[in-house]
Amino acid sequence: MVSILNFINGRFEKPLNGQYLDNYNPATGEVFGTIPDSGPEDIDMAVNAASAAFLLWSEMPLEERHDILMAVSDGIMDNLEQLAAAESLDSGKTITTARTVDIPRAALNFKFFATALLHFSAESHHMPGALSYTLRQPIGVVGGISPWNLPLYLFTWKIAPALAAGNCVVAKPSEVTPYTAFLLSEICIKAGMPPGVLNIVHGLGPRAGEAIVRHPGVKAISFTGSTRAGAEIARIAAPMFKKLSLELGGKNPNIIFADCDYERMLDTTLRSSFSNQGQICLCGSRIYVERPLYEKFKNDFVAAVRQFKTGDPSDPNSRMGAVVSKLHFDKVLSYIALAREEGGTVLCGGQALEMPGALKCGWYIAPTVIEGLPNQCRTNQEEIFGPVVTIQPFDTDEEALSLANDSVYGLSATLWTNNLQRTNHFSRQLQAGIVWVNTWLLRDLRTPFGGVKQSGVGREGGWDALRFFTETKNVTIGNY
Ligand code: NAD
Repeated sequence: MVSILNFINGRFEKPLNGQYLDNYNPATGEVFGTIPDSGPEDIDMAVNAASAAFLLWSEMPLEERHDILMAVSDGIMDNLEQLAAAESLDSGKTITTARTVDIPRAALNFKFFATALLHFSAESHHMPGALSYTLRQPIGVVGGISPWNLPLYLFTWKIAPALAAGNCVVAKPSEVTPYTAFLLSEICIKAGMPPGVLNIVHGLGPRAGEAIVRHPGVKAISFTGSTRAGAEIARIAAPMFKKLSLELGGKNPNIIFADCDYERMLDTTLRSSFSNQGQICLCGSRIYVERPLYEKFKNDFVAAVRQFKTGDPSDPNSRMGAVVSKLHFDKVLSYIALAREEGGTVLCGGQALEMPGALKCGWYIAPTVIEGLPNQCRTNQEEIFGPVVTIQPFDTDEEALSLANDSVYGLSATLWTNNLQRTNHFSRQLQAGIVWVNTWLLRDLRTPFGGVKQSGVGREGGWDALRFFTETKNVTIGNY
């Protein structure tokens, strides 16, 4: 059994209320540990520790801050195998995904912002007789709240820039996948991070998470998760005038034209549909295919999906693992049932998979492809966030654009074409924060990341993240 504890002021702490939650292994459906069911009193303790550490951390010479964050990055890579195994156990994702995507990216997040802090600068403006310059100062204590789909990857995507900018942090990972954040605490101690600079508190969203949002000592919140929780956080934080970055849900279109590079498109679309069991906010769940290519694409795509090996997440040969929780398993299956009710034809998958032996009670769903649904139905409008995609044909560019934009969400969009004019037209007109053309999930950490419409507010990544985690002040000096 793995007993997870809070990490506050450089020490491991039990929750003050003495309450714990069960932590499940999605591969087997069994409990493998406990996590603190923290409440406002634990958050208060963490905020006090962070406030006390702020002067030391924010005034620390940049090179020293850099060295500590680089040591965290190195510590993550030194513990790659342990962290990857923990991530796979906790989330049901395959060990291969954890080993090659999640954990290396978490290390890179620290490395990227450790070096960025050495180069971060601000503007100055000159006019006759006066000089104005911009100060970008750390905000103080900031909060980070992250989801379960890319646990350490997204947790560190918030923590690393917040710390690099000189803030102290109170962060909460998802209660569904807390294990690697717990292991990160030990890495931070070994890296020499001063007590109180980073505090990791575990627990439920509406209790521990909301307590971070409500705490008057927390000046900014960076949140990644569902649109529903994002709206609740915004409702609480807005009257307190907290700075907010909200990275929310999506229902991303994948638009495929007949002039695309077919093999590359097919291979990438298999990944963009089902990587991490479709539980990546950037997965393309609505696939639109130009009619002359539709039948060929459908046959090849479905044949390839049928070959996917879903199995034990710890087996390097498994292409797909388990979905993250019983709750999520039931939700995804209910959407497949809804798709049938709405008149969809299930071309492959469409049911839970029963595994042998120890995996018998795990939460496995066959990768599912559905056709024949109108764009406005709930299956095509609501975020399912599982191994389920729909496919639809289209006839013209304008029809494709209108189908793609017909959504309350606007996180990312993928376009497959070799037509330059069309590429530029779609890139301008697609209502999304991120557009990929002839690729998917290719991330340059210097680029802005975020969504439009109900997919969020604000941008993370590169200088945008450091600007979010700093307060901008203008100083004008006259008569000089
Ligand atoms: P969720 O909103 O249920 O939970 C996310 C985090 O918020 C968890 O740590 C949770 O404990 C906390 N939380 C929940 N309610 C809260 C509240 N009222 N106050 C404070 N904290 C609260 O989301 P999830 O199910 O963990 O993750 C899946 C969602 O995340 C999907 O909608 C997905 O699209 C989204 N997501 C978005 C991005 C992005 O970059 N836009 C990336 C990954 C995931």
